[in-house]
Amino acid sequence: MPKDVYTLDDLRNWSVATEGESPPIRLSVFGDPVAHSRSPQMHDPALKAAGIDAAYGRLHILPGQLEEALGLLPDRDFIGTNVTIPHKAAVLELMDEVDPQARRTGGVNTVVVEGKRLLGFSTDGPGLVRAIRADFGVDLRDLRVMVLGAGGGAGRAIAVQCAIEGSARLVLVNRTFEKAQALAAELAPEFRETRVTGPLARLEAVPWHDAALARQLQHIDLVINATPLGMTSGELRRVSPVPVSLLRPSHLVYDTVYTSGRTPLLMAADEAGARGSDGLSMLLYQGALSFEIWFGRPAPVEVMRVALLGK
Ligand code: NAP
Repeated sequence: MPKDVYTLDDLRNWSVATEGESPPIRLSVFGDPVAHSRSPQMHDPALKAAGIDAAYGRLHILPGQLEEALGLLPDRDFIGTNVTIPHKAAVLELMDEVDPQARRTGGVNTVVVEGKRLLGFSTDGPGLVRAIRADFGVDLRDLRVMVLGAGGGAGRAIAVQCAIEGSARLVLVNRTFEKAQALAAELAPEFRETRVTGPLARLEAVPWHDAALARQLQHIDLVINATPLGMTSGELRRVSPVPVSLLRPSHLVYDTVYTSGRTPLLMAADEAGARGSDGLSMLLYQGALSFEIWFGRPAPVEVMRVALLGK
């Protein structure tokens, strides 16, 4: 019977830990914590639908165990692995080769095992592009975007993606303001070209307080939460990163957090009459893009969607 979560010890003694399991686990997600990960829920049906004799497991790997765990993957006949909190940046440094997009993003979420070599990719930003198109019927490049949590891994990946797409505007907001400022300075060359977007600058970092948010939100189409505010466990569960009074019916609201119910931000969007969507679609599309990197063929996205979203 496959375990819900495997450990480094299991990976060391892989044939014993997975004895009798069929299909064999040859893909995984590394995380700490990782028990909540919903990636197996979409990848196992995708592998089955594609006729690939492999299963996808969760590996609870602690930060100090990352190098050893990655080093064991080739000998355990892994095709690759996904990487989640808190390993994305550390994994980048442990790759033999890093895709330019992952290098810019500063993190790897998809590892390919090629012989003895490990190749790193990032599908978070491109996954968000597909999610926004699927959920709202618009392209990131046509939108004036506000990213809350622009100092974190997901926020940075999204901001870099906005730069790559050439979004109409980008406003970076972060609790630690200096991180948003540093990212804005880095992305500034890509926002030099003038586009007709209104009275405010095309790229801005703003401090996280209501007056600044209120001013900016008048000139924003898409609000993205890339902080953990609203996650199911802990005291942050009930906190909306933006108060309902600042949202308008014209806003599109995307919460990268996904929980079993509506997040506080999405409840605020509902109350304001704005359209909102949770992070499950980003999870779906970053997973589909990982599949495409591992197997070099289109992912069975509909199979993955039904398995993950039930629709
Ligand atoms: P991270 O690197 O730890 O970054 C966390 C970010 O949130 C930082 O910007 C941090 O600000 C901010 N933050 C943390 N606590 C806060 C608080 N109490 N108030 C205001 N800001 C706070 O984490 P991450 O990997 O980017 O992940 C962030 C979220 O993105 C997670 O909740 C995860 O669910 C979501 N995510 C979703 C997907 C998906 O596929 N849907 C993919 C990746 C991530 P400071 O810089 O000031 O610390």
